[in-house]
Amino acid sequence: MIGPLDVDWGYTAGMTDIAHDEPSDDERWMRLALEEAAAAAKAGEVPIGAVIVCGGEMMARGRNRREADADPTAHAELVAVRLAARALGRWRLTGCTVYVTLEPCPMCAGALHAARIDRCVFGAVDPKAGALGTLYDIASDERLNHRYQVTSGVLAEESAALLKSFFARRRHAHGEPEALEG
Ligand SMILES: [Zn+2]
Repeated sequence: MIGPLDVDWGYTAGMTDIAHDEPSDDERWMRLALEEAAAAAKAGEVPIGAVIVCGGEMMARGRNRREADADPTAHAELVAVRLAARALGRWRLTGCTVYVTLEPCPMCAGALHAARIDRCVFGAVDPKAGALGTLYDIASDERLNHRYQVTSGVLAEESAALLKSFFARRRHAHGEPEALEG
């Protein structure tokens, strides 16, 4: 199997920041985050995935591992943040963008603040826990000592469809009521 790092994305070393900010690039990275989300669903986890990109290169990818790790903090973004910091050898993720399929919860939005991330791109909004504009707006809260850019709605339909079909299957299998927990 070809790993994501082996794929030629068509980037060159001279790629500018402007090119990196094109919506098409956001969609391209979000597709990888969606792959992670789909893999989470296959493993019986709520399908949420994340990718961290720094200087046009993918530093880390993560998926929700809450059940597998029996860890309430094993959200996709946090898994990816830890891996990216390890890969970079620093706790500051300055210069990095995180792509996540669902709007981060307060814990994850806070972790992105703590990591001094530059930017967060997310897919679907989370009416029950969203902390980047829905329930809270941690990224632009001027009381905090770091703020980061937010872009929402990138491939939101795909993200929402994964979540919907996951919960529909689980309801069907267990007769459970629908509950979206991010
Ligand atoms: Zn979270």
